[in-house]
This record gives sequence, C-alpha cells and structure tokens, in this order.
Amino acid sequence: MNPVPERRAEPEESVPIFRCDDCGEGIYHGDGAFFISGLVYCEECAEFRFRRLV
Ligand SMILES: [Zn+2]
Repeated sequence: MNPVPERRAEPEESVPIFRCDDCGEGIYHGDGAFFISGLVYCEECAEFRFRRLV
C-alpha cells in the first residue's frame, strides 16, 4: 500500500463571498450575510446592531 498524500484543494467555501462593511471580515458561504441599507454585515456585526432594534 502506497499512501499517496492527497493534495488539498482549496474548498470553495474558503473564498469569502462578501466582506463585512463594518469589521472588514470575510463572509463565507454558509455564514450569515446581512444587507442593511446597501451595506453588507457579517452575522456578528448584524447581531450587534440589531440587538438594539429587536
Ligand atoms: Zn462584521
């Protein structure tokens, strides 16, 4: 048996589809992306902002 090291292909999920306009962090597929007044927020920032409204 010859163990062949598999080349780890970068999964598509590792590429951020959006960038949070607040903290600048990448928002990945599967993460929550929140669009508020034309801006994109990550789940964390959106939660932080919405906490006062909800
Ligand atoms: Zn953020």
